[in-house]
Amino acid sequence: MEKNNIKKQNLYVNEEEKTLNWEEIQSSFKKTFGNEIYSSWLQKISLEKEFNDYLILGVPTRFFRDWIVSRYLDKILEQVKSFKLSLNRIEFKIIEENKQNKDSIQIDQISKVTEIKDSILNYNRLNPHLNFENFIQGKSNDIALSYSKKVCEQLSRYNPLYICGGVGLGKTHLLNAIGIDLQNVNNVMFISAERFMYHFIKSIKKNDMVNFKDFFRKSSVFIIDDIQFLSGKESLQEEFFHTFNSLIDKGSQIIISADRAPMKLERIQDRIKSRLAGGLVVDIESPDLELKIKIIKKKLQEIQIQFNENISLSEDVISFLASESKTNIRELIGVLNRVIAFTRVHNKTLTIADCKNILKDVFNQIRVITVDKIQNVVSNYFNIALSEMLSQRRSRPLARPRQVAMYLAKKMTTRSLPEIGRRFANRDHTTVIHAVKTITRLSEQDDEMKKNINQIKSLLLEQ
Ligand code: ADP
Ligand code: MG
Repeated sequence: MEKNNIKKQNLYVNEEEKTLNWEEIQSSFKKTFGNEIYSSWLQKISLEKEFNDYLILGVPTRFFRDWIVSRYLDKILEQVKSFKLSLNRIEFKIIEENKQNKDSIQIDQISKVTEIKDSILNYNRLNPHLNFENFIQGKSNDIALSYSKKVCEQLSRYNPLYICGGVGLGKTHLLNAIGIDLQNVNNVMFISAERFMYHFIKSIKKNDMVNFKDFFRKSSVFIIDDIQFLSGKESLQEEFFHTFNSLIDKGSQIIISADRAPMKLERIQDRIKSRLAGGLVVDIESPDLELKIKIIKKKLQEIQIQFNENISLSEDVISFLASESKTNIRELIGVLNRVIAFTRVHNKTLTIADCKNILKDVFNQIRVITVDKIQNVVSNYFNIALSEMLSQRRSRPLARPRQVAMYLAKKMTTRSLPEIGRRFANRDHTTVIHAVKTITRLSEQDDEMKKNINQIKSLLLEQ
């Protein structure tokens, strides 16, 4: 392990570590959720893959997944965590995609929704731990943070405020912080787009759209998280559009988050995109080393205050953790928690070698990055068809993404230059060399390119 290069391993497969007994977990679901919910929903979930800090669960349809995510995910995670402490994330894979249901919410699916009792209020929860005080400022989030605060000081000045950025970079944290800051003065509504969908479906089913409309339109601050979730869901977009317009008309402040800029959202109506872009768009970028170090130190300090426990890590170890955790702040915190847990148990001052050992499976994690995957992610990212990206056409809007994909294939897989060339419609390896050089140069000189590369890398590492 010591001799291996951790950075490299980051990208390759490791062995799955199977410890969970799914039947046992299923029976705990049954106890927690009750027979009815269990047999309509949870029983149908299968365990597809198990990794040290996350699981891939199988579900029958996209609708099913959205439903589970919006309604039960937190509880499921909590339950499974009690069997496996290292877990911090669950992903879903659709096992038998019901083609009919692919892009829209089908009415026949809605009938399944009936029995579940719920109140909208339950979902309008703000998490008191995600506030401005513990949001750490850095170069990557500076602008987003300062405008989030400005919105709180002067409502409707930037409307909507649209915060975008990759996974785990602090969007939900900021949205929550805004909600908390304003909660005493205003009628604040905070909801994820998934839950918005959930209420929407429920209201259709109950023939209660009037209440739904009223409920969301009466807020004076409407905060909606992960708006990319509306992608492809036409009827939901329609409803959102009306809600949005009527809120703006009456002068309510709207705050939105998404994983990308408005114009880059896919399968979202153009008129919605332009409304989303009509206020102020700010983005959060990947954290730099300095911010990561600050976050680690702050977390250590919090532990000190909260538990009156002195966990100290050397500067070297802190820098090591910060620089090795590549993708996002959520992962960084996960890594730190693991190191802290180890320190507690063994009661010793850790060295970098200890950390490598503790974290080997985190840094080794699956993340099978293949040329195919890179090609898909890159073409998606730049909004071009894969076939065009691979074609012989040389126009810049196709050539640049193609070069980016070649560059990433070289950097993130073990494929040789000729192999990569072959995967790009049989190009010569010299073309790949040229692409690698060009993108290396551009990513040093051009901020936009640097940002694109970082975002694509995070997407690849997250999938
Ligand atoms: P996103 O919604 O963009 O996926 P989150 O807001 O859920 O990301 O952030 C992931 C985790 O990282 C959360 O625990 C959050 O509190 C933490 N986090 C993100 N940015 C910061 C920051 N600047 N300071 C402190 N914690 C942060
Ligand atoms: Mg979020």
